[in-house]
Amino acid sequence: MKLSKYIISTSLNDGEEGADAQRIIYSCISNVTVVVSESIFHHLVNGCIDRVDNGIRKELEHVSILVPPERDELAAILDGNDLYHDNFSLFINTSAACRSGCSSCTPKQGNESMGDPVREALAHYTENQLRSKKYKAFNVIWNVGDPARDLPAIAHLSDLNRMLADRYAVLYTAAMICDGASLHKEIFETLFYRCNIKNYHVALDGGGNDQPSNAHLVIANIVDILNSFPFLPQEGIIFEIRININTFSQEAVVDIIDKLAAAHAQNRVTFHFGMTEDGQTDAALLAEYEIEYVLYAIQQGFILGILPARTFTACAAVDKGAAAVDLQGNLFSCNALPAATAAIIGANTLGNLLEGQPFRSHDTQFRNWVHEIKNGDTDCYTCNLLPVCGGGCRLKWAEGQSGCPAFKYNMEDRLILSYLNQKTRMNELIIEA
Ligand code: SF4
Repeated sequence: MKLSKYIISTSLNDGEEGADAQRIIYSCISNVTVVVSESIFHHLVNGCIDRVDNGIRKELEHVSILVPPERDELAAILDGNDLYHDNFSLFINTSAACRSGCSSCTPKQGNESMGDPVREALAHYTENQLRSKKYKAFNVIWNVGDPARDLPAIAHLSDLNRMLADRYAVLYTAAMICDGASLHKEIFETLFYRCNIKNYHVALDGGGNDQPSNAHLVIANIVDILNSFPFLPQEGIIFEIRININTFSQEAVVDIIDKLAAAHAQNRVTFHFGMTEDGQTDAALLAEYEIEYVLYAIQQGFILGILPARTFTACAAVDKGAAAVDLQGNLFSCNALPAATAAIIGANTLGNLLEGQPFRSHDTQFRNWVHEIKNGDTDCYTCNLLPVCGGGCRLKWAEGQSGCPAFKYNMEDRLILSYLNQKTRMNELIIEA
């Protein structure tokens, strides 16, 4: 056996040596964390596997920390990713009034809603895709500026989507991205119960450029919704709040978390930390701050994913079963594409729904991602996080930037945090300003 290349490890004793020194190891393949003595870890990294107790060896093998010596792990991961396209996913931009400016989503569109011709063409496209019987599930993400104004379009398309999912016997799920400022409970009721939109990704805006922050409005809406509807236990987390931390002070971020904790929203709300696309986006900087906020939110009782899990596709841009549609009927393989250069747009546009079939291509440049990684075109070729990352943001790589997510820069902190969280020792930790 050999030590897998897809592990992360860190000392549990701040690097101190001694008979009691321990090390946490996380397998990016099985997503299992184990704690071993530093002496065992020393044997593992030095290839002295036969010096490790047989029972421990078997355990490590069972969780993919030890793998057969002949296994080409990179090929196994990429082959697994390449096969995983059994979901049909649509990212539908029904309008463009969202003002949060998240770095992961920058549609540049006019201030209007999706019209009837595009809706009809989209329903035809959806039916053609589902008729192909390539898919087991149909997932929709609505990207919405003002849910009130877009409600007629969303309700109409939701009815069509659910009818098509039933007709072709695939599971249907729907989520929504919006800035939350006009997500009032009357609108939410229609979206949640009639349109079957069960998860809401709400980006908070910290204000600036003569605009006030929308955070207090959004939080008031969410608390009102949570107090108004009898959600079922299996409906789980309803709101994922993205806080763009470069637009808020530290006190303001803590205040948002405190307000939702005081409203007892812990089992319905979770947090995600990001930055806006204003030239300041820096994953390493985000990593430095986000770990403090993740810790604080957990201390207040919220449930946050600390360690990233195995993923078979980095994002919709590289997923052969996914597409984003804009108000003009353009079909892209990446929702942030409209903000890219003409060459990148040209290489990754699938066609226009109003121009009819056939679409220009289903094999855009971005969808060749698995082969690009195999060729060693990016750092992903040698990166130990590949199974849990998938290759980050393909658009950023295309633009000559690093596509790495923030967790690349704080994985060791996350490992310790996860370990301590499991040991329910969170209350002993002190957040540092
Ligand atoms: S995007 Fe960055 S973190 Fe992700 S696999 Fe590639 S090199 Fe690793």
